[in-house]
Amino acid sequence: MRDIEAYKQKLMRAKKNSMCDCTISKTSWTTSRAPIPRNAQSSAKTMKCSKGLGNAGKVELEQIEHALTRIKNGTFGVCVACGEEISDKRLDAIPYATKCKDCM
Ligand SMILES: [Zn+2]
Repeated sequence: MRDIEAYKQKLMRAKKNSMCDCTISKTSWTTSRAPIPRNAQSSAKTMKCSKGLGNAGKVELEQIEHALTRIKNGTFGVCVACGEEISDKRLDAIPYATKCKDCM
């Protein structure tokens, strides 16, 4: 029996890591310089948006989202090309893998 929940946790963590860290920097701002002036708060927001994600991060995030959808649908861990189960070893290395090692 495959421990889907463990992969889900892994994906959620990976998702958090690949997202923009603005929330984190905002938090450190809050702790280091309180109180935050109203205008400073809005300028921090602008910085967040212009920063964005790198292309690689964006692609990875999409794959992670896709994998989470597959968990919801119950198709997680099944190769999209041949329908065979993807090995645990492969999923441990890449939890958002959609193809088995034979089809990639
Ligand atoms: Zn396959």
